[in-house]
Amino acid sequence: MTSQFHAASGPPAQGPGAVDLSGRTALVTGGGSGIGRATAEALAAAGALVHVADRDADAAKAVAAATGGVAHVVDLADAEAVGALPGAVDILVNNAGLQHVAPIEDFPADRFELIQKVMLTAPFLLMRHCLPHMYAGGWGRLVNVSSMHGLRASAFKSAYVAAKHGLEGLSKVAALEGAPHGVTSNCVNPGYVRTPLVEGQIAAQAAAHGIPSDEVVADVLLDRSAIKRLIEPEEVAAVCVWLCGPHTSYITGASLPVDGGWGAR
Ligand code: NAD
Repeated sequence: MTSQFHAASGPPAQGPGAVDLSGRTALVTGGGSGIGRATAEALAAAGALVHVADRDADAAKAVAAATGGVAHVVDLADAEAVGALPGAVDILVNNAGLQHVAPIEDFPADRFELIQKVMLTAPFLLMRHCLPHMYAGGWGRLVNVSSMHGLRASAFKSAYVAAKHGLEGLSKVAALEGAPHGVTSNCVNPGYVRTPLVEGQIAAQAAAHGIPSDEVVADVLLDRSAIKRLIEPEEVAAVCVWLCGPHTSYITGASLPVDGGWGAR
C-alpha cells in the first residue's frame, strides 16, 4: 500500500534530518482540514500510509485521494465508532478539535461534554486501541496536537482549555508507559494557525468588535506573540513529522511550543 503512495507522490525526501516513514502506517484524526490535513500530507510525503479520519466525508476522501491514503468517516464523539478505526498503526496523530467561546455561566453543558469527548476521550480511546500494535512492534509515535491553551488559559474557552490541559496529562502518562516499548508521546503546542477554525474566530471577533480582520489578527490574536503573523498549518505538520523521525526518539513526555514567542513573555 505504501508503494501506492510512492506512485502518486514520489519518493520521500533525502538528506540529513530527512524523515523516511516508508513501511509505516499513520492515523490522523481531523485529517480533512487545517493542521490535520497538512500533517496527513507531510506524513504521506515521508512515505507513510495515512488513514485520514474525519466526520467531514468529502474532506476525508479528498485528503485520502491526494495522499494515496484511506478515508474513514467518523464522529469521534462516538466511542463505538472510534473503536472501529484501524488499530494497527505505528503513528497516531490526535488532532481533531473544535472550539466554543462563552463565559462559564453561559457555557452549554452539552457543548462542554462534546469537546471533552472529541479532544480528550477520543485520544485516550485511540491510544488504548493503537498501543498494543505499537508495543508488539517495539516502535510507535503518539503525536498529540495540543495548543498553547494546553499550557495557558484564556477567558471564555473553558471547555477547550480544560480538554487541552487534560490531553497534556494523558500524553505524559502515555510517555511513561510507552518508554519501555519504544513508543514516544508528545504534545505539539501551536499559537494561532491559519486554518478554518481560526478564520471563523477572526470573522466573529471582527464583527463583535467592529474592527477589520487584520486588526483582530494583530491586536487580539497576536497580542502575546513576538512574531506577528499566523502560523501556517505546514509549519505545525513539520514538527509532527519531525517527532516521527530518526533523531527524536529521546524526546518524550514533552510539550513543544510552536508559538512565535508567546510563552516567552
Ligand atoms: P480545523 O477546523 O481546520 O480542522 C479540524 C478538523 O477536525 C475538521 O476537519 C473537523 O471536521 C474535524 N472534527 C471536528 N470534530 C470532529 C468529530 N467529532 N469527529 C471527527 N472529526 C472532527 O481545525 P485546526 O485549526 O486544523 O485544528 C486542529 C487541531 O489543532 C485542534 O485540536 C485544535 O485545537 C488545534 N489547534 C489549532 C490552532 C489554530 O490556531 N488553528 C492552534 C492550536 C491548536
